[in-house]
Amino acid sequence: MAVRCLITAGPTREFFDPVRFISNPSSGRMGYALAAAARAAGWTVDLVSGPVALPEPAGVMLYPVVTADEMLRQTDALFGPCDVLLMCAAVSDWRPAVRRPSKVKKDGRGLTVELEPVPDILSALAARRRPGQVLVGFAAETEDVEANARAKLERKGVDLVAANSVAGPEGAFGAEHNTLVLVGRDGFRRQLGPASKDEVARQLVAEVSARISAR
Ligand code: C5P
Repeated sequence: MAVRCLITAGPTREFFDPVRFISNPSSGRMGYALAAAARAAGWTVDLVSGPVALPEPAGVMLYPVVTADEMLRQTDALFGPCDVLLMCAAVSDWRPAVRRPSKVKKDGRGLTVELEPVPDILSALAARRRPGQVLVGFAAETEDVEANARAKLERKGVDLVAANSVAGPEGAFGAEHNTLVLVGRDGFRRQLGPASKDEVARQLVAEVSARISAR
């Protein structure tokens, strides 16, 4: 069965002037591992990626983006025909309310930057999902990882949430290894890993495959 998969990966950058931004330490590794695993499963893969320092995975269509707005526009354009959405990107939750057109000059004093929320891409896509699409959100938490992930199932309107801890030195950001707890609406729970991000990605793709076949 032909499966078309849309994956987002990496951080976004939100600028307050042409050379300065807020972001987060996401390396994109988990999303790129998912892209490779999905490709290995024979799926057609569209990968929308924020700025990362990773080689382009073979055999996937890569769409580089920088800001959350660009990621929203790109995923929106690709979402319609996809069978599976793996929303792995660490989208910035806020952005500067004003993006100044020229570099802010240092004057030896502090600087206050007002932040506003960015659009929630996953919720926006889930609101117009087609029957049969499988939507997977991710949850990076520093505490109450599983409870927060369960709350996200309803809030975001997705089938599965893959939760990982980003707390402390064992946290997922940038690491080679990961442990994901996959939770679903029907009380489903499965731990993937601890293992390499490649192996965890393979297990996640296998779990989603089983759900597609069951539909
Ligand atoms: O709301 P929270 O950031 O905890 O949820 C994480 C999930 O939502 C991830 O799948 C992330 O990619 C997605 N997300 C999004 N747009 C945002 C923030 C998060 O799609 N603005």
